[in-house]
Amino acid sequence: MSIHFLNCFTCSGRVPAHWHTGALCLLVETDQGPVLVDTGLGREDYVRQPAILRAFRLVIRALINPEEAAVRQLARLGYDPKSVCHIVLTHMHFDHVGGLPDFPHATVHVHRREYEAFTRSPQRLSDLGYVRRHVAHDPEFALYGDGVRRWYGWPALRLPFEPEMWLVELFGHTPGHCGVAVRTESGWLFNVGSAAPIGFTEEVPPWLTRLMVGPHEASIRAFRTAHPEIHMTTGHMWLDFFEGRRGSG
Ligand SMILES: [Zn+2]
Repeated sequence: MSIHFLNCFTCSGRVPAHWHTGALCLLVETDQGPVLVDTGLGREDYVRQPAILRAFRLVIRALINPEEAAVRQLARLGYDPKSVCHIVLTHMHFDHVGGLPDFPHATVHVHRREYEAFTRSPQRLSDLGYVRRHVAHDPEFALYGDGVRRWYGWPALRLPFEPEMWLVELFGHTPGHCGVAVRTESGWLFNVGSAAPIGFTEEVPPWLTRLMVGPHEASIRAFRTAHPEIHMTTGHMWLDFFEGRRGSG
């Protein structure tokens, strides 16, 4: 079993200019073939940039490189993109789901609350990050929310894959935002998505952190201290995280 850590959208800050980040997508080998966790931007996003991406580029410097699309990276890693039958989402912001149309036959696994927030008319600021055309190909959705159990005490929903995978409810950044936990050969990988700041940085003032990532940051930080054996990541990582990390368990 192996997990690839892919950077599917490189961004740098304008202020602070030393911030260089990549959107983290996981490629997990499972009993049902390779499963993608988030997709980053997709091929079409590089051709026709969504308005929200163009707006973002006023405050970030985005490397607009279509080679970063997950579908291109998978091909380079030797995977047939058609073998990806399942995609798990932390949430449905454009920088996490833009690649869905590149895997049109994949079932999309997401929390029901997130799907509902995506499909209703916009009600809150975070809804501006949703881009309708990312599901214009009408993918099959598997929605979660019933039968909540616990993973290390967090409310969580079991995903139907082996190795064991969980959607961990971390609502706030968006209404149905979840982390994703994956059992690995050495223990657990817990990607908290956008429920914590980039690479767990403490550079951001707490009020701004709460505004951007929601209410769980302090509990996630405490959990990280209590469980150093669990490998934890965030939905956007510092660029150096991806270097030399093409396929580890
Ligand atoms: Zn987001």
